[in-house]
Amino acid sequence: MSIIKLHDLYFKPYVSKKEINAIVHFMADKVYEEMPKNEIPIFVGILNGCFLFAADFIRAYKGDCEVSFVKLSSYNGTKSSENVKQLVGINEDLSNRTVVILEDIIDTGATLQEIYNIFRTKNVKQLKVATLFFKPEVFRKELPIDYIGKNIDDKFIVGYGLDYNGLGRNYPEIYQLTIPKMKNIVLFGPPGAGKGTQANFLKDMYNLVHISTGDVFRFNIKNKTELGLLAKQYMDEGDLVPDEVTINMLKAEVEKNADANGFIFDGFPRTQSQAEALDDFLAEKGEQINGMVALEVPEDILVERLLERGKTSGRTDDTDENKIRNRFNEYNTKTAILKDYFEAQGKYFGINGVGSIEEITKRISNVFDKL
Ligand code: AMP
Repeated sequence: MSIIKLHDLYFKPYVSKKEINAIVHFMADKVYEEMPKNEIPIFVGILNGCFLFAADFIRAYKGDCEVSFVKLSSYNGTKSSENVKQLVGINEDLSNRTVVILEDIIDTGATLQEIYNIFRTKNVKQLKVATLFFKPEVFRKELPIDYIGKNIDDKFIVGYGLDYNGLGRNYPEIYQLTIPKMKNIVLFGPPGAGKGTQANFLKDMYNLVHISTGDVFRFNIKNKTELGLLAKQYMDEGDLVPDEVTINMLKAEVEKNADANGFIFDGFPRTQSQAEALDDFLAEKGEQINGMVALEVPEDILVERLLERGKTSGRTDDTDENKIRNRFNEYNTKTAILKDYFEAQGKYFGINGVGSIEEITKRISNVFDKL
């Protein structure tokens, strides 16, 4: 899961599908347990926000029941307004019935007040209120709420039926409003494309932290750490280091620089699962990848560059053409597909990686400026 953008705002994952499912089942069971035997309740959903909650709740309810909906409107943008209006009323005869209101969220209680006003005149036997989410910090009424799924912070949420100016209702999980502060860029390209060289200029130009997973591995190998010993056997052959090891290392590097303005990721992600792990990891922080900037260079030029670099770099994986070929093979089979992954999110920016170092820096910075 990653951050989503609706209209002009960003939202980060907040309550997962799995957690929602557990809450809804718990609520439905509790309502059923407390329902007098042989009582057939009428569940009244408050549209529009409750439609997914009501559907799931009713399916999870173990007894016979009736279902109806009433439509009220209280939201205008991200601020809860006090002007609640009833739009569509209830047609069923509710006298002497047990009514259970299903609400997606209760915050100030303005809508709830309106509900109590409406149902006061209906001669119901019993009125209960079940809300999936509740914001205790802002609730200002003295009204009873019988069932609360989850107490949440006073931040705007969307998803699972809830919207921000019409959008977001169709997401199966709940997202919370966030303001991303970082600029995070994946510098992408095959071995020898010039990622490290370019990152060195760009990190200063944009005040970003450069993380090269290859460099971190080499540092660990040089210092004979446990991680270094583990990585060495893969790197010497030009194979990728296993995902779990690499992902944990990357996370630790990010955590070390928690107050950075953003990162240039160089050599990471290199597999689909690394890309997904990075998205999840950043999303938890309310951050995202702004873009993947890819240096596109033909393979024969790359081999030449790597062999040239091998003369001075001291890297064993640069001197042997078979190992270089294997690195390309790893790139083509596991890494190149990430172009599609980022392109699908509208975040792929290809750059011609052939030319002078300065020319290429200029081409990249034209893209960085827009991200
Ligand atoms: P680089 O310096 O980016 O060319 O990386 C050199 C070597 O480090 C690669 O050939 C891999 O063996 C290892 N490595 C670097 N980054 C990763 C990664 N994201 N996933 C797996 N292995 C990596």
